Amino acid sequence: MNSALRRRLLKSALALPLAAAIGRIGHAQPLPDVARLKSGYAQRLKKILAAGKLPYIDIESSCNPTKVDIDSVAQSIDRMDIGLMALSADMTKGQYRDGVRFDNLSERLLKAWPDRFIPVGNGGQPPFLTEAADEFFAAQEAAAGQQPMLLLGEFEMRHYPSPRQVKRGELDRDVNIPIDGPAGHRLFALSEKLGLAFQLHYEVEDELLAPLERMLEKYPKAKVIWCHLAQVRYIERASRYSAAYVEGLLKRFPNLYFDTAFGDASSFYPLSNQRHARVWGTFGGLVDAWRDLIAAYPHRFLSALDLGGDRLERIAEYDRKHRDFLGRFPKDVQQRIAYRNAWSLLFGEEFA
Ligand SMILES: [Zn+2]
Repeated sequence: MNSALRRRLLKSALALPLAAAIGRIGHAQPLPDVARLKSGYAQRLKKILAAGKLPYIDIESSCNPTKVDIDSVAQSIDRMDIGLMALSADMTKGQYRDGVRFDNLSERLLKAWPDRFIPVGNGGQPPFLTEAADEFFAAQEAAAGQQPMLLLGEFEMRHYPSPRQVKRGELDRDVNIPIDGPAGHRLFALSEKLGLAFQLHYEVEDELLAPLERMLEKYPKAKVIWCHLAQVRYIERASRYSAAYVEGLLKRFPNLYFDTAFGDASSFYPLSNQRHARVWGTFGGLVDAWRDLIAAYPHRFLSALDLGGDRLERIAEYDRKHRDFLGRFPKDVQQRIAYRNAWSLLFGEEFA
């Protein structure tokens, strides 16, 4: 076979699935508005509840938008009776080099599966938040004005390398952006301006707490989801953080929420060799102080899986662990954490 013929055959073989994909997108419904999304979400949650299952809203997962298999994630969501998922795009270095500052993953998700995904802005990660913060924020704000968006983030202001990155020897994701610096002010101000909550990744260290408190004071209308409740990677750096400290924050800052994406009782942070999910006690039960805090402030905690591009295929395991955590609370608290709180945070009203 000569090379021209081979190229032509290859091209037509590639063209078929591509045409099918384009055809499908082309025939999909136009992007639904927030009112349509909301009614689809409500129907879905009620259907799962009517079947006697507990739906939850995963408020914080992310993926590589150039690689994600949308249909496969949607099918997993169905299989596990997950209510909704806020799956945000962690844009790639390649996209960064190509000048991309906003990825339209949410648009693609809503066009294909409008009653399963929540439209969310892009993950604020390096190099986007570290090298091009102004352009990145401007792109998020512009997108929020043009298409449905119900949430922002996750913004990594202080982020140690993740356990999986440590395993891969990728230690460059050691992010330290002052929360009270220009990017932090822009983030909190954007949340106030758009009326949207943002997900914050902010490791627990004594000296980081006061700057965060100052920002929460300065921007009382910013809606902040501090991700990974009680995930402390180095206990020696976090002498001030405790359930009592978090309770003090909840009392002072009515727009502060925490998500419950953390490891299980046996999960270690490899760089410190410590069990970093501090809600869990030695024998696998919840520590009383953390369980009591959640039960005492049931409106302020949110379900989250924290899936990522390198672990989307582990969704069943993450679902099982999260349901195990939820199952340790009375039914009404479970419902609050699972979907009622996220619903009121996203829509400003109770789920009815
Ligand atoms: Zn995080």
